[in-house]
Amino acid sequence: MLLFTPGPTPVPENIRQSMATPTIHHRTPEFEAIFRRARELLLEMLGMDEVVLLASSGTGAMESAVTNLTSSKILTINAGKFGERFGKIAKAHNIDYKELMYEWNTPADVNEIVNEIKADSSIDAIAIQISESSGGLRHPVEEIAKKVKEINPNIMIIADGITAMGVEKIDISNIDAVIGGSQKAFMLPPGLAILGLSQKAVEKVGKGRGFYFNLASEIKKQRENTTAYTAATTLIIGLVEILEELNRFGFDNLYTTTRKRGEAVRKALESIGLNIYPKVSSLAMATIYHEKTPEIRKLLKSKYSVNVAGGQEQLKNSIFRINNMGLIESSEIAWVLNSVESAMAELDLRKFDGTANRVFTESMILQ
Ligand SMILES: *Cc1c(COP(=O)(O)O)cnc(C)c1O
Repeated sequence: MLLFTPGPTPVPENIRQSMATPTIHHRTPEFEAIFRRARELLLEMLGMDEVVLLASSGTGAMESAVTNLTSSKILTINAGKFGERFGKIAKAHNIDYKELMYEWNTPADVNEIVNEIKADSSIDAIAIQISESSGGLRHPVEEIAKKVKEINPNIMIIADGITAMGVEKIDISNIDAVIGGSQKAFMLPPGLAILGLSQKAVEKVGKGRGFYFNLASEIKKQRENTTAYTAATTLIIGLVEILEELNRFGFDNLYTTTRKRGEAVRKALESIGLNIYPKVSSLAMATIYHEKTPEIRKLLKSKYSVNVAGGQEQLKNSIFRINNMGLIESSEIAWVLNSVESAMAELDLRKFDGTANRVFTESMILQ
């Protein structure tokens, strides 16, 4: 089965092998050297001032960012399940919040956010997805961050980059916290969260809040190449392995390849009459709106051994999402596109003539 969901992504064989070594103790110079390397590579990759690794899924880093970086009120942007989650986190912690809602295909409105900030001076943090995976949507985070900082540089910009980290070069110039997760573009198993922080964010953390997700305790320990509690040693070993590999490949090269492939895939899907769902597409995935989504996905799975993601809630049966994160073999994505076209032919939606593959290949070669 080809796993083509936008998280989890497949774990390459060499990375799996690197994690198959005997467990080492986390309070040893041996592990501290590995941890140091993970920090170095992440700081270089992200360009942030500080980085924290948490033994949790991505949501743990979302929660720690919200609780440690909000003092009075947070503005959350809800254009899907993950944006909604920021509001739920605030609510669970009795943190005052205001939520702006958008359709799942619609990017956040910069002016609306600016007006909200101007109208309510108690807002001291904003949480938004760079790529909202629910609808494969890209928010204009850079522009929002820039405008907000012009009004008040002390407002913390919390960016959920779980499907942006390792996908595109994130412009962190006005961002205070950027969140990543192991199971997306890092091609690792789930269970490790990454949190990049600006100097301003580190200052705001101060003594930190909460217990397990108290960033002050973690920052203190992690600067000494250890963790406050038992580190996710196996995942961190895998992280160093993949980061070294991506570093050799070149991060810029990774971003260029991902962009080129993402655009070629979208073009190919459109060439066979499919419609892209989001008004502004995230590079992490191709999201197609189609009434026959359940039938298409079923055929992809049963006949072509391809697993793509469906939608959630109101979009459960009307969108499907094809992953574009990580190192993907051209032959595999070509197979996926061929399978989508074949499935459409079998459902009498169009004739099969190899258009998707031709357009994809032309786009990759002639671009
Ligand atoms: C996958 C994902 C998350 C994190 O979910 P976890 O299941 O906690 O790892 C958060 N935000 C976005 C945009 C995601 O795609």
